Amino acid sequence: MNQERRCVSCRRVGPKTSFWRIVRIHPSGQIQLDTGIGRSAYICPSDDCLRQAQRKNRLGRALKVSVDEALFGELRQRFEKVQMLPHVENAELSGGPEDDKRQDAKQGENL
Ligand SMILES: [Zn+2]
Repeated sequence: MNQERRCVSCRRVGPKTSFWRIVRIHPSGQIQLDTGIGRSAYICPSDDCLRQAQRKNRLGRALKVSVDEALFGELRQRFEKVQMLPHVENAELSGGPEDDKRQDAKQGENL
């Protein structure tokens, strides 16, 4: 079994799970993300690869179909969401008035 996949943009090879999957559904020819049966293309969840895939029509060529701008919009949105996640977590874990008090207390102890 070969689980290795290749990014359509940068040609990086890696495990299937490290890429986003874009599928041309059979037989409808509809393009969707992640799931479905049909011809698939893989792309790194990275800004560079998304950009290149769009500019050079890498996905379109890999899937032998014209890829709608909307799909790249969706991928980009997803990418931005992924980028946002760590910030959201940090905002929840730290900050806020309680944290400030704790820091003040610590500084008091050191003195
Ligand atoms: Zn890539």
